Amino acid sequence: MTLLSTIIRAIYLTTIALVVFLTPERAIAKSEAIKVKKQKLYYGKTKSGKKLYVIRMHKEDHKLPMRPAVIVTGGVHGNEYMGLVKGIAQKVDENGKGFKEFFTSGGVVYFFPEVNPDGVVKKNRFNNHGMDLNRDFKIGRKPSQSETAQFVDFLEKDLDRFHARLILAMDYHCCARSLIYPEIKKGNGFYKEQFNKIVTLMKTHVDPEYVSGVTKDIFGHATHGTLKGYWYKKFGALSFTYEGSDPKEEFKKFNGHMSWWKDLMGVVVDVYDNRLAELTPEIQNPSKTGEAPALYTE
Ligand SMILES: [Zn+2]
Repeated sequence: MTLLSTIIRAIYLTTIALVVFLTPERAIAKSEAIKVKKQKLYYGKTKSGKKLYVIRMHKEDHKLPMRPAVIVTGGVHGNEYMGLVKGIAQKVDENGKGFKEFFTSGGVVYFFPEVNPDGVVKKNRFNNHGMDLNRDFKIGRKPSQSETAQFVDFLEKDLDRFHARLILAMDYHCCARSLIYPEIKKGNGFYKEQFNKIVTLMKTHVDPEYVSGVTKDIFGHATHGTLKGYWYKKFGALSFTYEGSDPKEEFKKFNGHMSWWKDLMGVVVDVYDNRLAELTPEIQNPSKTGEAPALYTE
């Protein structure tokens, strides 16, 4: 072998080795489409016999010890049903922006389009027993209604089964055109920062005119037993009541909601990757707060 051919051969082999070495596994994995399991599950029935259901999505294989979880609910007040939660569940692209990274991280997302199906059918705020379900979620006791009890029971067991940590919860209502977050203890910068981020994203994607704050800022009084308060207190989740405008008008913003959700999934992955330890549930003792007056808000 001549010296020249030895040199050429050496350059050739080095190039091959470099190409193999420099193509990281992650780059290959990133371009691959992922597959997500999407199921409609029945978790109970109302007293009138209407089925309670959830659409759950997650990737089957997952190696990390804990998954991030997201809950999206609607139809807690049947007269405020907008159809958005069902629409979003149908349109989720597991390989699209935000969602792909979320599912790759092991994420589980739950869509409950009709928490109160009797109310949705009758366009009624209450369930068949005249109860406002968004006052029935209180720390330290089981929810009193069949809809709320089965809902919480299913979800808490399922989160356990998946070893999932609830990071974000969004409860869709109308019609106060606002995004409402729970009252946080003073000095907790993490929540303030995350709430502000999520409010800004809502204004960017959905409606810049919508306002934000705690319930008192929006309605002039506090409420007890709301779903948003429950997820925040129990799991330290970033938890909201979204108040749209009237249902038909709000549905025109559907694409805005979809792009908001793509960014929200990015927020969830960021918290999961970098700030998980900062999610702080409140003390689990029964709250001493009395019953709120029956004001038809939130
Ligand atoms: Zn409501």
